[in-house]
Amino acid sequence: MRRVFITAHLKNFLLLIIAFISFIVITSVLIVGVGDNKSLNKSKNSIIKQEEYKSLIKISSLPQISKIKVFISKENKIKEINLEEYITGVVAAEMPAEFEIDALKAQAVASRTYALAHVTELGGILCKNANGANLCDTVHCQVYVSKEERIKLWPKGLGEKYWDKIKTAVVGTQGEVLTYNNSLVMEPYYFATSSGKTENSEEVFSNNIPYLRSVESGGEERAPKFKSSKIFGYNELSQIINNNYSNAKVTSTNIKKQITIIDRTEAGSVKNIKIGSITMTGSKFRTMLGLNSSNFEIVFNLKSVEIDTTGYGHGVGMSQWGADAMAKEGKNYIQILNHYYLGTVISK
Ligand SMILES: [Zn+2]
Repeated sequence: MRRVFITAHLKNFLLLIIAFISFIVITSVLIVGVGDNKSLNKSKNSIIKQEEYKSLIKISSLPQISKIKVFISKENKIKEINLEEYITGVVAAEMPAEFEIDALKAQAVASRTYALAHVTELGGILCKNANGANLCDTVHCQVYVSKEERIKLWPKGLGEKYWDKIKTAVVGTQGEVLTYNNSLVMEPYYFATSSGKTENSEEVFSNNIPYLRSVESGGEERAPKFKSSKIFGYNELSQIINNNYSNAKVTSTNIKKQITIIDRTEAGSVKNIKIGSITMTGSKFRTMLGLNSSNFEIVFNLKSVEIDTTGYGHGVGMSQWGADAMAKEGKNYIQILNHYYLGTVISK
């Protein structure tokens, strides 16, 4: 009798253990599932924290970079600059100082990430225009200016105040970079103004990059280059096209019938355009004609062709005017970066 009782007791105990183990396994699977899709706002659970801790160890195990080599094109020489000082010069050149502090902070993190993505010890590739330095100081990489140069271009009396504001944004994000799946983000692209939506990376560049997805980007109508127009004569336009693409064979009398927009991206930019006997991407058409963006409409007037563009820049990643609009709505730089670089995490 007593033995039977013990056996039954043991059985219940074993069932309880099995149930407990199952619970742990199922919970772990669920948590790991969330962890794969982690964002800055999901860190309440210990296992996720451990994942992030691991990722931090992985990132901090990389060599510490405190200086960066920049090719100064005007002087035709390479300068080694303290990383944070370089970032201050980049933010000062790349974003209006009048912008909200959180937009400037978001820019600082994006620019720092971009700089470190050109350091070979971190798996990056040197800029091909930089003569062996990490980056060049032009729009090819990101524009960098020294404090003296930048202050000359700001309204008199505001220079020191503006520089200090940018410095505050850089110091406030010191050492912070964007990471994705525990690695440094290699393509933290940004641009001036979107058309209301950013672009999927593969619709502008060749690669499908998971964190560079098309997202809404409102409040940009006040950007000075949100809308712009360029006017070409019929002769002028056909000449430019034929000079760049001799196979196109367009004529000034027929050009209206020879140009057809084939398709557009999710954000509305021209993906492919047929011109005479050739087809080119909207980006190539944009470069050929020096348009502000590849989000355009072509209007054939009586004596000229008007090309109306919306937005300014390639449209991939963070919109700077969109970042400022978000900051004006009270969003902080982490929320801004999270919005434009999907699924990324800020690491030091
Ligand atoms: Zn470059």
